[in-house]
Amino acid sequence: MKITDVISHVLQYDLPEELGYSQQYYARRSAHLVEVLTSEGVTGWGECFGPGPIAIANKGIVEGVIKPMILGADPLDRDVLWHHVYNLTRDHGQKGMPLQALSGVDIALWDISGKVAGLPIHKLIGGAHRERVAVYGYGMMLRREDPAAMASRFEEEAAAIKDAGFAATKMKIGLGLKHDVALAEAVRRGVGDDYTFMADANHCYTTADAFYVGRALGELGAYWFEEPVAPEDLDGYRELRRGLTVNIAGGEAEFNRWGWRSILENRGLDIAQPEVCALGGISEYLRVLALCHAHFTPVINHVWGSDVAVSANLQLLAAMPPLPGGLFPTEPMLEFDTTHNYFRNDMCKEPLRIAEQVKATGGFVDIPKRPGIGVEPDPDYIKRFRI
Ligand code: CA
Repeated sequence: MKITDVISHVLQYDLPEELGYSQQYYARRSAHLVEVLTSEGVTGWGECFGPGPIAIANKGIVEGVIKPMILGADPLDRDVLWHHVYNLTRDHGQKGMPLQALSGVDIALWDISGKVAGLPIHKLIGGAHRERVAVYGYGMMLRREDPAAMASRFEEEAAAIKDAGFAATKMKIGLGLKHDVALAEAVRRGVGDDYTFMADANHCYTTADAFYVGRALGELGAYWFEEPVAPEDLDGYRELRRGLTVNIAGGEAEFNRWGWRSILENRGLDIAQPEVCALGGISEYLRVLALCHAHFTPVINHVWGSDVAVSANLQLLAAMPPLPGGLFPTEPMLEFDTTHNYFRNDMCKEPLRIAEQVKATGGFVDIPKRPGIGVEPDPDYIKRFRI
C-alpha cells in the first residue's frame, strides 16, 4: 500500500455573530481537514489546529512540504513517517505551524491504519478504559458589549449549558481584572453552588494579575484556571500553582515531547491539556500522554475543530489509562464547543451528535466504534465550505 496523494481542505463560513476570547474577536469559523489517499482505495482523514490565515498557511506546509516527503511511502509506517518529516523540518520549526500541519497528516495515517485493521483507533492503542466519557460544554465567549450586559449574558448562558445536560462548563475571561471576577461570579450564580465550572484566560495576564483573578476563582470554587499566563512563562505557571488553591491548567500551545518535557518538569500544571491536532498528531500525543502520566499529571485533552477532531479525541480519551487508578478514579472529560459550528453533525456521514447524546444521558457521549477515527466526512458537504 502506498500514499498516492495528500490534500488539505480549508473550510470556512461567516459566523452569525462575532465571538471573542482574550486575544481577539473573530467573525469566521474555519476548519482544516487533511485527506490522505492510498493505492488501495483506503482514505484517511485528519485535522490541523489553527483557524483562518493560519489554516491557509498550514495547507501550504501540508501540501508543499510534507506531501513530497511521504508520497509513495507505506501509510501504515506512521511512526517512521512522523520522524522522517520531523527530522527534515526540525531546522525550520520544532513548534507551531509545522507541527500543526504534521498533526493532521499523522491523524489521517492513524485513520488509514484503523480502516485497514478494521478497528477503531482506541483498539489499535490498546483498548478502551471507558465506554463513554463525560462532556463539558464551553461557551460564554467575549463580545463587544458592556461588561454588565456581558455578566448577565454569561449567567444565562451558563445556566443554559447546565440545563442542556453538560457535565461542567467553561467560560472565557479577559476583560480586565475586576470585570473578569464579576463574570466568574455571574457564572457561579448561573449554575448554582454544586456545579463544576472552569475559566479560560487564553494567557492574557501577568503573574501578579493572575494571582488576583485566581484567588477569586478559588473562592468561587472554580475547578480550573486555564492558561492564566503566557505559555512561555514557566516561572509564572510554577508560582501560580504553588500559591493558588484553584487548579492550574494549560498546555494547548505546547508541542511535541520535548516542549512537554519542559513544562512538566517545571511542575506548573495541575491539569495538562495537550492538543492532538497541534502537538504532532496521535503518534506524538501518545508520547506526551506517557510523559504527563510519568509526572502524575492528569490529562484533559484540549479539543477544537470539526467532528474529525472531536472523534479523534474520543478515541484518545477512551484509550487513556486512569491516573493513578482506583475504584472511583477521576475521569477525563471531552471538551466541546457549544457555539455555532457547521463543521459538526452535518459534515460527516455518521454524525457524532454530541449535544443530543449529552441531553439524553445527562452529560455523556459514547466512544465511536467504527474503524479508524470513527467518522467519515461527506465530500459534497466539504465542497460547499472549501475556500
Ligand atoms: Ca483554552
